Amino acid sequence: MQIEKMIAKKDRTISCPICQKSVAKTFRPFCSKRCADVDLSRWLNGHYAIPVTEEDGGIPTPFADGEGDK
Ligand SMILES: [Zn+2]
Repeated sequence: MQIEKMIAKKDRTISCPICQKSVAKTFRPFCSKRCADVDLSRWLNGHYAIPVTEEDGGIPTPFADGEGDK
């Protein structure tokens, strides 16, 4: 079973695709649940068109309104 050996070897050197830290078995291929969640949200955002309800006032103003000028 050479293939199994190769896979096992590959697993050992794998690092978290989010933060490059060493991977925990529990959260493979991620180092932690946090990174798994990050990747999951990225994946979901990229592959599914989730209807997002935009909230008013949630967008930051790109420029100042002249306030604070003297
Ligand atoms: Zn990580």
